[in-house]
Amino acid sequence: MTSSCEIAQLGAKVLRQHAEIVEQVNSSDIRQIIEDMQAALAITQGVGLAAPQISQLKRIIIVASRPTTRYPTAPLMNPTVMINPVFEALSDDKEKDWEGCLSIPGIRALVPRYKAIQAQYIDQQGNFVEQMLEDFVARVFQHEVDHLEGKVYLDRVESTADIISESEYFKLFV
Ligand code: ZN
Repeated sequence: MTSSCEIAQLGAKVLRQHAEIVEQVNSSDIRQIIEDMQAALAITQGVGLAAPQISQLKRIIIVASRPTTRYPTAPLMNPTVMINPVFEALSDDKEKDWEGCLSIPGIRALVPRYKAIQAQYIDQQGNFVEQMLEDFVARVFQHEVDHLEGKVYLDRVESTADIISESEYFKLFV
């Protein structure tokens, strides 16, 4: 039996499928998925999670930037549940920086992402939220939204030379 907060690993079909729009933010099913996602994030060193990573094909992400052993330089913010998230780039500027993923352990890669985005989503109370996100938080948001489209960050690397082992990544911060 699999635990409800077990993280799907690369190769699992669920990570390559399109997640469905959430129609009823307050339904017990959706509330349960959000609780399972929060529990999964709490026991990992992740800074974000998408519902397909706990094998639920719903358009829900949590962005929870915080300095952790996995991301020592991440800014601190309150974990934010975002339902049906979408965004527009505020400029064409992209920046490459390191990413990892709980579904792809042991690997990091340089990934180009928009530096500044206008994000829109529904919060847990059902309110529509519009928010400008920049830099690391914008990066996490774009990474998690990719999961809702069945994409992983390795799909976006420009060169396989930009993929390194996590042990080499940690040496960069020593
Ligand atoms: Zn991920």
